[in-house]
Amino acid sequence: MVKCPVCGSENVINNTIDYSEKFFKKILISTIVCNSCGFKHSDILTEEKGESVEINFFVEEKEDLNILVVKSSKCSIEIPEIGLEITPGPYSEGYITTIEGILERIENFLYEHMHLFEQEKVKKIMEKIKEMRNGNLKFHLILKDSSGISKIFSKKAKELKNTK
Ligand SMILES: [Zn+2]
Repeated sequence: MVKCPVCGSENVINNTIDYSEKFFKKILISTIVCNSCGFKHSDILTEEKGESVEINFFVEEKEDLNILVVKSSKCSIEIPEIGLEITPGPYSEGYITTIEGILERIENFLYEHMHLFEQEKVKKIMEKIKEMRNGNLKFHLILKDSSGISKIFSKKAKELKNTK
C-alpha cells in the first residue's frame, strides 16, 4: 500500500509505466498522485544496482538538444556556463526528457521562483538559456548521480563511474 509522503493519506493513485523496451535497460517510471492533498511525485525505478556516475556532455549544436536524458531523483544538474547547480532535494523527481526539456524545466523553475533571486541576475541567465535553446550558445551539461541510473543517450557523452 502506497501512502502519501506529505499527508499520509492512502487515497493515492499509483501509476507505473515501463520504458525498458525503448531504452534497452530496465527503466520504469512510477508516478503517485495524492487525492487528499494533491501531492504529485514521479521517480525512476530500475532493478540494476548501479554505481555512482558523472556524465559530462558538451552541447555543441542545436540537434544535441533533442538527445534523450534519463534523470533520476538522486541526480544533480550542473551547467557551468550559467553558474547553475541544482542538487536533489527530498522530493526531487526522476524523469525522462531531452536536453531541451531540461533547459525548459530550469526556465520554468526560474519563472516561478523569480522573487527569490536577484532580478538582474535571473534575467541574464534567462537570456543565456534562450540562446542555448536557439543553438547559439554552446554549453556543458553535467549530471552527477549517486544511484547510477541517470543517462544521456549519446556516444558523445562522457561517463565516469564510481565518482562518489
Ligand atoms: Zn497527500
